[in-house]
Amino acid sequence: MDFAGKTAIVTGGSRGIGKAIALKLAQLGANIAVNYTSKPEEAEKVVTAIKEMGRDAIAIKADVSNGEDVQQLIDEVERHFPTIDILVNNAGITRDTLLMRMKEEDWDQVIAINLKGTYNCTKAVTRKMMKQKSGKIVNIASIVGVMGNIGQSNYAASKAGIIGFTKSVAKELATRGINVNAVAPGFIQTDMTEVLSEEVKESLMTHIPMKQLGTPDDVANVVAFLCSENARYITGQVLNVDGGMVM
Ligand code: NAD
Repeated sequence: MDFAGKTAIVTGGSRGIGKAIALKLAQLGANIAVNYTSKPEEAEKVVTAIKEMGRDAIAIKADVSNGEDVQQLIDEVERHFPTIDILVNNAGITRDTLLMRMKEEDWDQVIAINLKGTYNCTKAVTRKMMKQKSGKIVNIASIVGVMGNIGQSNYAASKAGIIGFTKSVAKELATRGINVNAVAPGFIQTDMTEVLSEEVKESLMTHIPMKQLGTPDDVANVVAFLCSENARYITGQVLNVDGGMVM
């Protein structure tokens, strides 16, 4: 896999899975736009690490749920880099609670960031990718969007939405040289899963044949594959990265 001279945008690229994806694509030669919303120092650390690899990188603050922010993000990437070759829609949040206790804002925030954010960023890069006649878009869904989970109906709906969106946009762009795929991670060791109690983690293990949580690199490796020419003939697919999870 060789991404020399390619430009990748990774949303929510300052920590967790997004950070691992940004570093992996840079390791393989890409220049990276690291999007973040808070803690600029975390994004700057990722930028510094990428520059130390000899690649170009910039950190760009933007809330993916806000269409104007996203347009400014893309404008800044276009000013700094000649092409946009890869978009990884990774930014995401959880607001877990049972449906009966779920407030409207818990629903709205999760759908706005996870699902509308994916729409905003994808739409914003598509015209440029169509002109280039090439592009790779990878959306980070979740196994929860495939199987559902107690206390995560908002999150599951957003991730199932991402899967439907991925399959539809893949069909729309299939003849334009643009591949659109999704990765559905199972339970990965990041800040998002750090908050789970030991009891919940133990019960999760009963559903994971490999008997371990995944690492951000496990996801990043699959994203890199989907962004590479090795995956040239793959579009509209969802790859589960979940240790064989069965719910
Ligand atoms: P994380 O909380 O460590 O990282 C999420 C990232 O998204 C952060 O960088 C955060 O700043 C960014 N973000 C949040 N709101 C944003 C917004 N409005 N605009 C731009 N960026 C925003 O979580 P993570 O575990 O690294 O998750 C990354 C992605 O992987 C998410 O989409 C998540 O749903 C998905 N995922 C994670 C797991 C897991 O087990 N950790 C499993 C399945 C899917």
